[in-house]
Amino acid sequence: MIIVFKPEASEQDIEHLVDRLRSLGLRSQISRGEERIVVGVIGDERVLQGQPLSVFPGVESVTPILAPWKMVSREFQKQDSVIDIGGVQVGGNRVVVMAGPCAVEKLEITVGIAQSVARSGARILRGGAYKPRTSPYSFQGLGQEGLEFLTAARKETGLPVVSEILDARDLGYFLEHADVIQIGARNMQNFELLKEVGSYDKPVLLKRGLSATIKEFLLSAEYIMSRGNQNVMLCERGIRTFESHYRNTLDLTAIPALQELTHLPVIVDPSHATGKWNLVAPMAKAAVAAGADGLLIEVHSDPECALCDGEESLKPSRFHDLMLDLQKVARAVGRDM
Ligand code: PEP
Ligand code: MN
Repeated sequence: MIIVFKPEASEQDIEHLVDRLRSLGLRSQISRGEERIVVGVIGDERVLQGQPLSVFPGVESVTPILAPWKMVSREFQKQDSVIDIGGVQVGGNRVVVMAGPCAVEKLEITVGIAQSVARSGARILRGGAYKPRTSPYSFQGLGQEGLEFLTAARKETGLPVVSEILDARDLGYFLEHADVIQIGARNMQNFELLKEVGSYDKPVLLKRGLSATIKEFLLSAEYIMSRGNQNVMLCERGIRTFESHYRNTLDLTAIPALQELTHLPVIVDPSHATGKWNLVAPMAKAAVAAGADGLLIEVHSDPECALCDGEESLKPSRFHDLMLDLQKVARAVGRDM
């Protein structure tokens, strides 16, 4: 961290700040230029998070050098993290597609969709048992029974399952029935929930918040990792912008930007990012071309009758065609699928 003092700062101001740094276990390197005095902070400046150094008398500016996160950073771990999900590796050379209905509905529908996405090459089944709906009158999900249906679908197809948790009190069911716990966009900054899932080693798919910056996103991942859980995947799912023609704006730039900053796998959800089934395939291909490690795609056998997000769900035949195209895109950028 670099602290620059105002021209009128007194020796006493500098001493006051240096004393505070010392009390936090940090050393100071003072350089006296012609116009300004600059203090370089030596030591792990993360201890300064939450310390309002800019309000100290005489201070003009405070510039951090280190990122505010540690465990998620590329500096902490150079090589990509590869997460094992029931034998499926996410974060390696192979692009992994997770697909299935938005919400778990009837058992036969869930198993049927699982079988069809498995035939098309999906390697993980998605399905929401607890649904975070904007309206309290919308379908809220089957809850525990939905998780049991996912377990039945896994038994039929061998696909590991990812499902969203809304309430830490349900963690026991998730540890038993899910292979990946999803933290949805609306809970990205539910810090108590992040700490809870961070206390186990069950893989976590952390979705980017509706208006979260890259910094906030990575700090949420840091919450999970700092509790001990190293199996974290990040999911870009579109952010809220001024554009209302589609549901969200897919931030493709986040893919290479995150991959520079962190070793964690980056997954893209083109379904929630666009909200329209006809926009899903182009964005899925763009995401793989931009380096995504995986995709999360909503598929429904009968989108017209889906209880949630039918408008953005692909029919199985369209999903199948997309998977064929994705293989070509993956190959073109040096990835397997
Ligand atoms: C979901 O994947 O089911 C979901 C609700 O997504 P998001 O949290 O990204 O809105
Ligand atoms: Mn959905």
